[in-house]
Amino acid sequence: MELEMFHKIRLYRLNTVIIGTGAAGFNAADQLWSLGQKDIGIVTDHVGAGTSRNTGSDKQTYYKLTLCGDEPDSVGEMARTLFDGECMDGDIALCEAALSARCFLKLVNLGVPFPQNRWGEFVGYKTDHDPRCRATSVGPYTSKQMTECLEQSVREKNIEIFDKMQVIRILSDGGKVYGLLCLDLSCPEDQEKRFALFSCKNVVLATGGPAGMYADSVYPAGHYGSSGLAFEAGAKGKNLTEWQYGIASIHPRWNVSGTYMQALPRFFSTEEDGSDEREFLEDFFEDRNMMLSSIFLKGYQWPFDVRKLFGGSSVIDILVHLERSRGRRIFLDFRKNPGGAPVEFEKLDPEAFEYLNRAGACLETPIERLGHMNMPAVEFYLGRGVDLRTQPLEIAVCAQHNNGGLAADAWWHTDVEGLFAAGEVCGSHGVYRPGGSALNSGQVGSTRAAQFIAAKRNGEPEVSSGFEEIALKALHEAEKTAFFAAENREGKTAVREFWKRAAARMSRYGAAIRNPERIELAIQEVREELSAFDDLVWTKDKKELWLVFRLRDMLISQFVYLSAMKDYIGNQGKSRGSALYTDSSGQKPDPRLPQEFAFCLDDESRADLIQEVSYKDGKAEFEWRKVRPIPEDDNFFENVWRQYRENQNVF
Ligand SMILES: Cc1cc2nc3c(=O)[nH]c(=O)nc-3n(C[C@H](O)[C@H](O)[C@H](O)COP(=O)(O)OP(=O)(O)OC[C@H]3O[C@@H](n4cnc5c(N)ncnc54)[C@H](O)[C@@H]3O)c2cc1C
Repeated sequence: MELEMFHKIRLYRLNTVIIGTGAAGFNAADQLWSLGQKDIGIVTDHVGAGTSRNTGSDKQTYYKLTLCGDEPDSVGEMARTLFDGECMDGDIALCEAALSARCFLKLVNLGVPFPQNRWGEFVGYKTDHDPRCRATSVGPYTSKQMTECLEQSVREKNIEIFDKMQVIRILSDGGKVYGLLCLDLSCPEDQEKRFALFSCKNVVLATGGPAGMYADSVYPAGHYGSSGLAFEAGAKGKNLTEWQYGIASIHPRWNVSGTYMQALPRFFSTEEDGSDEREFLEDFFEDRNMMLSSIFLKGYQWPFDVRKLFGGSSVIDILVHLERSRGRRIFLDFRKNPGGAPVEFEKLDPEAFEYLNRAGACLETPIERLGHMNMPAVEFYLGRGVDLRTQPLEIAVCAQHNNGGLAADAWWHTDVEGLFAAGEVCGSHGVYRPGGSALNSGQVGSTRAAQFIAAKRNGEPEVSSGFEEIALKALHEAEKTAFFAAENREGKTAVREFWKRAAARMSRYGAAIRNPERIELAIQEVREELSAFDDLVWTKDKKELWLVFRLRDMLISQFVYLSAMKDYIGNQGKSRGSALYTDSSGQKPDPRLPQEFAFCLDDESRADLIQEVSYKDGKAEFEWRKVRPIPEDDNFFENVWRQYRENQNVF
């Protein structure tokens, strides 16, 4: 790779640029190199950022083919499990199953300590939406350890990492990728040097989920995603309506699942300034034992799920959302029992009583119960400055994972030639998915993209007038945005304030509770913000330019995602997964709840349909198509082998 100059701007030419240093990005680079494509580089805004490296949970799960015992399993059966999650393409499901063992074992060989028994079997446990015991884990930080091992492998290969480079445009003509325009975060104030260009034949986008759209989020702070840039470059979105939301603490960001709920903490809310403390769950639950049992169940049933609303645990998420939408702050309190009175354990739901009794956790206070069952859970917060023994924990219903994302084929190639999407940015899942399948998908998708590039898309990027024209236009627009953001404060909103307002809007109207009228209003607002962007955003500090470009990307994402929700409703889509769509013709989980919570449950009649969206000229255009079925090839060995010798079966 040689450094050139293009109109006084640094220009790097490479066969492939990978964007992102999460588990998917590192694996894409590592695989490409191993497959012989060495003209590559990784671009990242911060090598230590991203969800993979900075998140976790009680027992962070990796989903893979069964590799233990005499429990039967097969590629075909695992593919069907994934496919049964609804709205999932069968070819993607088959690849995710077929490459599962290979990708998993690669991680093992790189040093990720997945537990094995003395015979070398990789033991597993059952996770949600899993008919077998395919799940495994190395503890709370599975994805962090994966990322570290993958990074080490990449560093050993001396693959170049361009750190502190934020991609602000994917250069494309809508049909083909040409390169990238980046903001160099080490010198945003230097007008001569702040932008850099990459010319490349392939881009592997591994930028994670578009977390920045939401204020209430359990994605790690500093992770934003960049899906807006991909939509702008012509990539289609797919299943964008499908997310996972659930209750999480917001400082630090962490899912309060499992024992945090089984310890039966007290929920209370206050005004913004901490006044007027109230145990708001009690307004809803007339029977205290039913309330305690629902809190207990929330431990197992972490994501908000509309199927668990009538008499189920997800009503807790609704009550938290409702209270927060009144502008109040919500807390979990482990110091006192809900309602202040002792818990009558034997009056709880039998499942809850039996569990707590067997665990020897029928103790006086929530903190005693939590400490007894899971001391590391207490220590986790202590290590992050929150002592659950003496202080409450602020929570919200938070965005956690996007099942949908960019549309891609079975090589994780998007509709834009040369643009691949791997990891959470790619919408490989549908409505439901087994826990842990996100991490599997990231490894499989990045491997498939690398295989395709290595086999089919070698060579240097063309030196074309196409690149020049597109790069010059993008540069001109970026300069204009940078110039206007620093000019004339009047009538503008400071970028941080703008961001806060936009993210809060999405959490209120485009998260777990989706009201058609409010979505429409939110779309109008975002459309206006995008069309007059340069006239609305202000920053006095050029060091904040990165946020100006992030904001633009995030608003494009919000526009496309909100439009997808609107289109889904317009196509008679009903509540499913982690999304409740207000529908006055439906029922409320309880008559005391506001009308906003009336909804109709989806009848699975659209489980074989996929919504896709293109973003063009400021408009979102939709198509619905049937899912691609699981391929049924004739796997006669001699035939597959012959073809493999010809083209490695990459076509
Ligand atoms: C709390 C929580 C718990 C989870 N638990 C599980 C679990 O148990 N099992 C499971 O399978 N999944 C789980 N997930 C999901 C899973 O962790 C993520 O889907 C996965 O780690 C995403 O990896 P990735 O490589 O796609 O993206 P990330 O790890 O998010 O990496 C994205 C990278 O892109 C970079 N980047 C983004 N935009 C730009 C830009 N414009 N320019 C340059 N660089 C950019 C970022 O800096 C980062 O390096 C969980 C997620 C959360 C939030």
